[in-house]
Amino acid sequence: MRIFDPHIHMTSRTTDDYQAMYASGVRAVVEPAFWLGQPRTSPASFFDYFDSLLGWEPFRAAQYGIAHHCTIALNPKEANDPRCTPVLAALPRYLVKDNVVAVGEIGYDSMTPAEDTALAAQLQLAADHELPALVHTPHRDKLAGLRRTIDVVRESPLPLERVLIDHLNETTVKEAKDSGCWLGFSVYPDTKMDEERMIAILRAVGPEKVLVNSAADWGKSDPLKTRKVADAMLAAGYDEDDVDLVLWRNPVAFYGLSGRLVLDVAGTEATHEGNSILRGGA
Ligand SMILES: [Zn+2]
Repeated sequence: MRIFDPHIHMTSRTTDDYQAMYASGVRAVVEPAFWLGQPRTSPASFFDYFDSLLGWEPFRAAQYGIAHHCTIALNPKEANDPRCTPVLAALPRYLVKDNVVAVGEIGYDSMTPAEDTALAAQLQLAADHELPALVHTPHRDKLAGLRRTIDVVRESPLPLERVLIDHLNETTVKEAKDSGCWLGFSVYPDTKMDEERMIAILRAVGPEKVLVNSAADWGKSDPLKTRKVADAMLAAGYDEDDVDLVLWRNPVAFYGLSGRLVLDVAGTEATHEGNSILRGGA
């Protein structure tokens, strides 16, 4: 079984996670730029983070046989902080990098005017750079958030067919599907979407354009949730081809819209800019 986790924040995870993910079948990940819990106080903090998503993290993933790409953006939450919004002007120099396969995560957190501005500006940047966009939907007021998101995309130059709307659930999936976007589901422990609810959604809407991710980060989350959904699909009577469609071919097709997806894990050099993941040297 081959698995592509299309939304996971590996910066927050350990090498043990990479090892367990590989053992579970994970061969590719996309790491969206997001907030760190601790608020950032200047654009420079974003730039070091973006550089690490483009350099150190793919290096680390390659040591464990996993292809790593990223998406770059000013995240919805920090779009509200005037100390952070100058990042928008610097995004074009990151969006041209080979390893960037979408603009994201963009979208709404609290649905403020500042978030409107950042979302519209970054949808324009995605269109300008011929990249798809990964759009986060708010964890509160989900249906209102989805509708406003779809409206803003429709007013942008980016077609909904090049947008993955993430963190969907039972209340938002139907309108999202009707819009023509790609459908993302984050499967978490304890809260929000779980494996059984995911199976029920797959039965309701089918597997086309559905992507499942763990959205694992620094909070309570599980980087093996993609495999657990695959196993739940098989137990529910789906065949291996259905599992491969949802857990591999759909994410490959969506991020492949960038023209930049490379799934061979190349360059397992021992060091990145002189640093290795080993302790005490190689
Ligand atoms: Zn995320």
